[in-house]
Amino acid sequence: MSSNDFRVEHRYLELPDSFYTRVQPTPLKDARMACFNHKLAQELGFHVTNEADWAGIGGGTELLEGMDPVAMKYTGHQFGMYNPELGDGRGLLLWETIGPDGRRWDWHLKGAGTTPYSRFGDGRAVLRSTIREYLCSEAMQGLGIPTTRALFMVSARDPIRRESIETAAALVRVAQTHIRFGHFEFAAHHEGPETVKTLLEHVISLHFPHLILLAEEERHARWFEEVVERTARLIADWQAVGFCHGVMNSDNMSIIGDTFDYGPFAFLDDFDAGYICNHTDQGGRYAYNRQPQVGFANCQYLANALLPVMNDNTIRKGLQRYETAYNGRFLQNMRDKLGLVQEDEGDLGLVTDTFSMLNEHRTDYTAFFRALSNLYDHGHAPLRDLFVDRQVVDEWLARYEERLTKETRARDEREYEMRRVNPKYILRNYLAQKVILEAQNGDFEPMKELIKVLEKPFDEQPAFEKYAELPPDWGKHLNISCSS
Ligand code: AMP
Ligand code: MG
Ligand code: MG
Repeated sequence: MSSNDFRVEHRYLELPDSFYTRVQPTPLKDARMACFNHKLAQELGFHVTNEADWAGIGGGTELLEGMDPVAMKYTGHQFGMYNPELGDGRGLLLWETIGPDGRRWDWHLKGAGTTPYSRFGDGRAVLRSTIREYLCSEAMQGLGIPTTRALFMVSARDPIRRESIETAAALVRVAQTHIRFGHFEFAAHHEGPETVKTLLEHVISLHFPHLILLAEEERHARWFEEVVERTARLIADWQAVGFCHGVMNSDNMSIIGDTFDYGPFAFLDDFDAGYICNHTDQGGRYAYNRQPQVGFANCQYLANALLPVMNDNTIRKGLQRYETAYNGRFLQNMRDKLGLVQEDEGDLGLVTDTFSMLNEHRTDYTAFFRALSNLYDHGHAPLRDLFVDRQVVDEWLARYEERLTKETRARDEREYEMRRVNPKYILRNYLAQKVILEAQNGDFEPMKELIKVLEKPFDEQPAFEKYAELPPDWGKHLNISCSS
């Protein structure tokens, strides 16, 4: 099927048996290739000439030599409640490969049928949610935010019952690892300290190789600090780009700090600090402005799982890294977005007041910062047009321009740099919704076009201006179901 440059190394199978169950995929009917990520396949060492050859793997009728599918066992806190019954309920880890650059890739087939951890689920994924995950993984990658990736997806004829009858699909998701905080919770709460240690050393040796040579106590302490910091920085990146995850359960937190498990996520259109993208999250536990705290709470769940093998004090110190890492990264992100290089003590106040203004006036978050990155070329009008109350934005602009007098960079150079951090194109819900409708009618071309645009979110793409348009009224606050 292709000439290849990879090696197979299924290291997850070295963990104790309790971490997985071998399961064969349950075939889908007539799985067809819907979208294939050729660039990513190349990075993994697969030079694919005929993508249709891969449909059988997506559809669960075919495995490559060396694939040994397992459902992973993990547990976790869902909406604050511990659930011991979790695990891959509809996904299988097929194998791990090492690409030509030495990078490790887990391959996970999502939508592969039931497993011992399916509980009441059917083990399937619907076309709608599979497309959303594909789009958002690649959009995040384009934005430079750590994420799991989409290698390819198939669609099939099997009817899937959700709120209505939908079409089945399956996604091959790849990532450096699929190990979650919840794996540690499982080990600690059901297996014991030795198992926690085994898992910890496994994660360090595969994903934190720079720590391997340290003495045990030091190694564990540094590792935990790093996990906490990566988590904090990831969430600071989400906040800066206006991303709302929607289901920040601890089983959806990657141990290496990738954005993980795309469900009812949303990028903010009109800025709304308390935005809740998951319509089943009635209390707003995972609202946009609560994400930083939730990230910390998840680190605390992880910390609890590590208590049997690490010293309390070390864990406390590790957790303390969260706030510093979050605040540092968030402020840096916002300074970059505003184009501020010189440090000024008033900057945090400016950032806070900017958010208050955007929130009060429900200004489009992405358009605001992009317009701000073009003041020199396009003038004030595009920015002012985002506000009904011009006086508010004029006063803000006066303050901002006053602040800019403390900067030493040339104006065009500043704005050039600002355009490299303030995207023009983001995955707005209405854009996803449009390509989903086309795909449900059998046409995946619009999806592929959207992916191409989102791969370069910071570039001007004159042929694709329409993807930067503000959402139409129907496209704002779409009710995204968490059923997927
Ligand atoms: P999520 O809310 O997407 O993180 O999913 C939580 C858990 O439910 C995970 O362990 C999933 O594997 C499982 N799950 C979600 N949907 C299904 C399904 N259709 N069938 C079986 N298990 C599922
Ligand atoms: Mg999940
Ligand atoms: Mg999910």
